[in-house]
Amino acid sequence: MSCIFCKIAAGEIPSATLYEDEDVRVILDLGPASRGHALVLPKRHFADVTAMPQRLLGKAMKVAGRIGAAQKKAFGYEGFNLIQNNGEAAGQTVFHFHLHVIPRRSGDAAVGLWRPGTVTPEEMAETAGLIRQEL
Ligand code: AMP
Ligand code: ZN
Repeated sequence: MSCIFCKIAAGEIPSATLYEDEDVRVILDLGPASRGHALVLPKRHFADVTAMPQRLLGKAMKVAGRIGAAQKKAFGYEGFNLIQNNGEAAGQTVFHFHLHVIPRRSGDAAVGLWRPGTVTPEEMAETAGLIRQEL
C-alpha cells in the first residue's frame, strides 16, 4: 500500500506524534489551521467514515476530546473543532480516515464554517423523507 497515513501511523515515516496506542496515532498536521492542529489516525487503513468500525470511531472521538483539552491547556485556547472530511467534494485529500482537532480562539478565522441558508417546513419534510428511505 502506498498510503502515506498508513506509513505515518505505523511509524515508517517520522511525524510529530502527540499520542499513540494500539489503535490510533495522533500527529500534528503539516499545514495547520492553528498552532497545535492535530490529526487522529487509525493504525489500520479505512478510506473514510463509512468504512470505519464503530469501536474505532468511538476511540477516535474519545482521543480527539483529550487532544482538544490538552491543546487548550498548552496554549490557552478557548475551544476546538472536530472536523472529518469524506470524499473529494467535501475536501478530503488523504483517503485514509482522519479526524482533525483544530484549536480555536474567539474571533479567529482558522476554520471557515458554512453560512446558514433557508428552507421551508415542506422542503424539510421532503428532504428528511428522502434521506430516511436510504438509511
Ligand atoms: P483532508 O483534507 O481532510 O483529507 O486533510 C488532510 C490533511 O492532512 C491536511 O490538513 C494536510 O495538511 C495534512 N497532511 C497531509 N500530508 C501530511 C503529512 N505527511 N503529515 C502531516 N499532515 C499531513
Ligand atoms: Zn492508509
